[in-house]
Parts: sequence; structure tokens; C-alpha cells
Amino acid sequence: MNPKHIVTRFPPSPTGFLQAGNARTAVFNYLFARKHAGKFILRIEDTDRERSKKEYEESIIETMQWLGFEYDAFYRQSDNVKRHTEALESLIQKDLAYVSKEVPMEEGQRAEVIRLRNPNIVVTFTDVIRGPISIDTTDLGDFIIGRSVTEPLYHFGVVVDDLDEGVTHIIRGEDHISNTPRQILIQRALGVVEPPVYAHLPLVLGPDKAKLSKRRGAKAVIQYRDEGFIPEAVVNYLALLGWHPEGEQEIFTLNELIEHFTITRIQKGSGIFDETKLRWFNHEHLKRLSVGEYEMRLRAFIELHHEVPPSYLFEIVDELKGRSQTLGEAVELIRAGEFAFMEEQISYDPSLLVQGAKTDIETVRKNLNVVLEMLSKITDDGFTREAVKETIFPYATQEGRAGVLWPLRVAVSGKEKSPDPFIVAGLIGKEKTLERIKQALDPL
Ligand code: GLU
Repeated sequence: MNPKHIVTRFPPSPTGFLQAGNARTAVFNYLFARKHAGKFILRIEDTDRERSKKEYEESIIETMQWLGFEYDAFYRQSDNVKRHTEALESLIQKDLAYVSKEVPMEEGQRAEVIRLRNPNIVVTFTDVIRGPISIDTTDLGDFIIGRSVTEPLYHFGVVVDDLDEGVTHIIRGEDHISNTPRQILIQRALGVVEPPVYAHLPLVLGPDKAKLSKRRGAKAVIQYRDEGFIPEAVVNYLALLGWHPEGEQEIFTLNELIEHFTITRIQKGSGIFDETKLRWFNHEHLKRLSVGEYEMRLRAFIELHHEVPPSYLFEIVDELKGRSQTLGEAVELIRAGEFAFMEEQISYDPSLLVQGAKTDIETVRKNLNVVLEMLSKITDDGFTREAVKETIFPYATQEGRAGVLWPLRVAVSGKEKSPDPFIVAGLIGKEKTLERIKQALDPL
């Protein structure tokens, strides 16, 4: 086995927010590096000074942190311009590149640029995902690698950076295949002995089968955080867009993904990013969180939106897990008053107690009294939703469910619509349940 340390890099350009397509590239680079105890680099490719923005760089870093992708080194391409310049000069000295006099064809065109001497050969490289790829570079001619000696072009900078940073594996979107021969020619001119291994990933398409791109309005990954997705779900989903482990398992933690990841199982066909599927993954991951962990995440999510979490989050976690696919939906339920019965006080119009009971007020009164009596016999500790149900259900079945359960539900929840009375009673506990039934009986 080659003991050589594996080094991967994720080099986004800070010209927009990270969207799912870019993030998926980060996922594979990260998984591959971690799987082989290698190094994972984040490199901000800000050579396009006009389109690069600090705000995007910050957001990329924030997104990487949110996804849980710790990087072992961080570089900014613009910090390396001196190195690029030196490399460019060395090529000129060796006559592998030259200062070319140009005849300006249009306004603003330069009279001098730096061109690489193209050996005009067929470049072949073995792509891990696609096998051998051969491209005739003759058409490229002596392509430009610098606007001037001090202004090396993007492709040149990338090759120098990959070399200096010891990158062993270049895992990137298949839209970069066409750049590869150009970059390989530059590598050869620079005397690279062992070129990096290439793996060109299938594209990530939107549901309309068009490439997801920031220019076409793809959502920023960080927006998923703001909508209440959790990072493990997003990473899990992205990893499966273009890669499948053996077997049927779909839900993976980050560590499991690292363990199962094999670069050779990345497929050639493009993946379709489907938010409905992502929601399903999110729900599955949320359901797997412990109550305490869920509560912590939800609290953080509410605070992220500058709101104050209600005091009873912990108690309603199980309910929320069942009913919401995202933390955002959980918050919607709380906001909509679905759990208002958890507040200290409830108030409602007493006529509601009879409204859906399909019986008269006397029967409602009698039933609530019987229920009160029955429930008071359950111990404090044993007062769970199951115990409440077992205690009351036979009576409700015998007397007519609507006549027993409707008033009970209104009494404990104060709402026309709410979870069933067993759930509510279990959540608010014995003391409050009995107190609220008594409170309901008062005006009857
Ligand atoms: N900066 C390029 C991009 O954002 C990536 C280049 C590469 O992976 O070589 O698409």
C-alpha cells in the first residue's frame, strides 16, 4: 500500500453562497480524506477580484463549520500570487512559456500576455470515476497563463497551489473535465513527477434536470440551517447524491459515512437534488436524536431566529418528532398554539366543552366527574398517556367516546383542536389535569 498521505482540497470561489452542488463536492473530498486519515484543505479561490466578495468567503466558512467539515489547512488563493508569479517567471526562464506580443483586436486588449508553449500532444489521464480520458490539446494552442508576469491566470494558480499544498486527489465536478488537460500541461511544464489523481463527480441537477447553480437561483446550503434542517441530514443526503454504499442502509451518521465511503462507488450518472427527499432524511435524523439533544438543537434554532424558546420544550419533543420534518416546522406548530396547553393558564369559552360532545350538558358534567374520579386514582409517577388511556378508555367506549373524550380534551387543552386528551394529560401531568377538569366543571 502506498503510505503516501492523502490530501484533498475543496476550492470554492467566493462569488456566491455555497449551494448543494458545491457542498456535495466538499462532502466527497471530506469523506475521502477522513477515510484515509489524510488531510482536507479549504482553499478560497478568489482570483477573480471583481466577483469575489468577503461576505461569500465568510458564508462559505460558516457553511463548512455548520456541516461539521473541519479542515486541516486553509488557504486563500490571492495570498499566493507571489508564488504564482515566481512559478510563471521560472517557466519563462526555461522557455516553457513566453511573453507573447499580441495585436490588440479590440479595445482594452493587451499588447503582451504570457503563453505556455503547448507541446500539442494528446493528454491522457485516468479518472477514478470515468476511467481513462484522452484529450488532444492541439486545439488549445499556446494558451494564455498570465495577463502579465505579475498577473497569472486562474488555471495557473490552481496548478501551483495544488502542487505547493501537496494535493494528491482532485475530486471536483465533471464540468471541470475540460480544464484538466490544460492543467496537466501546466503541471508538466512545472516538472510535476507524480500528478494528482482525478475524480470528476457527476453533476447535481435540480428537479427540472438542469444543473443546480447559484446563477440559476439554487438555494444556499446555509439557508437549510435557517429553515431547520440539521447538518447530519444534509451531509447524509448529499453523500447519497451520486454515491451508494453496498447494502440497503440509507441513514448514516457522519462517522458511518466515513467508514463506508469508497471513491470507486461514485457513479457516473448525475444526481437529482430533491428537497422532499431531503426533508425525509432530516426527519429520520431528527427522530434519532435523544430528547435532550433534540431540545438543545431546537432551542438553538429558536434563538438563531432571535426568539425566546418556551419553557416546556423538553416535554413536547416526542410530539414534535412525530409531527415535524424540520425544526422550522416544529416551531410553526408551537407558534400556531398547538402546545398552548403547556402554558400555566388556559382559557376558553365553556360552551366548547359541549360543542363536539354529541350529548347534553348533564351527561358531559357526569362524564367529567367520573373521569376526574378515575384519574385521581392513578399515582403521580404513573400518570402517563398510556395509563390515562387505559383508565378511561373502557368507560368512554361504554358511554360513547365523543361524550367523554371531547369534553376531557377541551378541559385539558382549552382548544377546539389539539392532540388527543391522553397525550395532553400525559404532558401536563396529574396535578394540572385534575385541576383543569375541576375548572371545567365549575361553570357547568
Ligand atoms: N474554484 C472552482 C470552483 O469553484 C473549483 C476548481 C477546482 O476544483 O479545480 O468551481
